[in-house]
Amino acid sequence: MSERHDATTPVVIAGGGWAGLAAAVSLCQHKVPVLLLESARQLGGRARSVRIGDNIYDNGQHLMIGAYHGMLTLMQEVGVDLDEAFQRLPLTLQLYKGKKMSLRMRARALPAPLHLLGALISVRGLSATEQFKALRFSRQVLRMDIPPGEDISVRALLHSQAQTPGLIGKLWEPLCIAILNTPPDLASARLFVAVLRILFAGMRRHSDMLIPRHELGALLPRPAGEFLERHGARLELGQRVTDLDIGERGVRAVQVGSRRIPCRHLILATPHVISRRLVSHHPRLHGLAKRLSRLGAEPVTTVYLQYPPETRLPVPMAGFENAVAQWVFDRRICNQPGLMAVVISARGEHMRLATGELTERVAADLARAFPRWPAHRHSQVLREKRATFCAGVGSDAVRPDNRTAVRGLWLAGDYTATGLPATLESAVRSGQSCAQTVLDAMQS
Ligand SMILES: Cc1cc2nc3c(=O)[nH]c(=O)nc-3n(C[C@H](O)[C@H](O)[C@H](O)COP(=O)(O)OP(=O)(O)OC[C@H]3O[C@@H](n4cnc5c(N)ncnc54)[C@H](O)[C@@H]3O)c2cc1C
Repeated sequence: MSERHDATTPVVIAGGGWAGLAAAVSLCQHKVPVLLLESARQLGGRARSVRIGDNIYDNGQHLMIGAYHGMLTLMQEVGVDLDEAFQRLPLTLQLYKGKKMSLRMRARALPAPLHLLGALISVRGLSATEQFKALRFSRQVLRMDIPPGEDISVRALLHSQAQTPGLIGKLWEPLCIAILNTPPDLASARLFVAVLRILFAGMRRHSDMLIPRHELGALLPRPAGEFLERHGARLELGQRVTDLDIGERGVRAVQVGSRRIPCRHLILATPHVISRRLVSHHPRLHGLAKRLSRLGAEPVTTVYLQYPPETRLPVPMAGFENAVAQWVFDRRICNQPGLMAVVISARGEHMRLATGELTERVAADLARAFPRWPAHRHSQVLREKRATFCAGVGSDAVRPDNRTAVRGLWLAGDYTATGLPATLESAVRSGQSCAQTVLDAMQS
């Protein structure tokens, strides 16, 4: 049935993470009234800044790449100067094992895919046989497309491609965990290959690393919030959506505690665990709830260590082999000299360590790699238990798209079927495509 949009009834968006913000900005650009309800006291969701005492931390160090077109476009649309916001570097991997550099690889100034094939040819830390096997696999990846029904684990894929344990440990396992936030025994080869293809087959600058020069709040949440307010959207913080009112003909209202907000279009831009909870007792959405329950979750832990301000990493980010710490980022780039952000992705033994012990183990990993550093002065551990969905084998086949079985109810979030792992780019693309789907529905 055709529906004329009532210009006074806003599209309600539940969730002010990067997906919800992307959807809100797109709708505002089409002059559609928007009401954004966010349960927290700030925007940004899983990519936000947090104030602890006198310090501002990111809830987790984030790394972006040049192929994040949706995110970069959105940032520009809300007025962010990209050159100022990011340090752009060719893809570089520098790993330490104890105090020795165990791997160094840097994308070359050549057209794709030679930029990364060249990196593998000039890599330090792999034997000639490992180099040859890595190169052969990288070339295979360009031709690979694993259908959703034929997904296997990343480890099974690597074994089938004759990648040796040493090569897997030094190169592919750290990459898999960094890209999918899921260990290679569980991780989806389909998603892994999809990302490797973006890195290898896209333009050279698509594989560039974009390291934020600002805390996360300043990258998108604050500029997007200001853009939305300038364009007449209503942003309400501290407003938790508690229930959905769904009738025979579709969405009727959204409930925030005892407050009922009538709406005809509702975008659930909440994390998949919350979306599942909200839809689970509506009979027409049981199938969706079941799919969402199969997505699972993986953590990311960030250990911040504050050293004296003159302490520096030799490169903006470095990795570790055989250590609790996985990657360390020098926050000097964010005007936080001496602050190191150590990232530990996915599940693992570190989750069983108490905060003090984890900090000591991570500090010891850094001390081994950089023995001249003085002791750190203070530390902060931030654990995000549900940082991303678990990008396990078959997970891509379970991800829903923006539509639901209920008229007027839409989904946006990193977990929807974007073909990408749970990333800022996936969240933003999902928000943008959701807004487009809502606009199409309003006009049909
Ligand atoms: C520690 C960490 C490190 C990461 N590192 C990277 C990285 O390096 N690169 C990268 O690309 N990605 C990274 N990610 C993933 C990235 O942050 C997420 O994919 C992205 O932020 C998800 O955005 P979203 O909008 O889909 O969901 P969310 O950010 O979860 O947004 C959902 C919003 O809904 C709100 N909400 C929840 N319940 C309700 C309710 N009932 N009513 C109203 N509002 C509600 C939440 O408060 C939240 O603001 C990382 C994530 C974490 C946690």
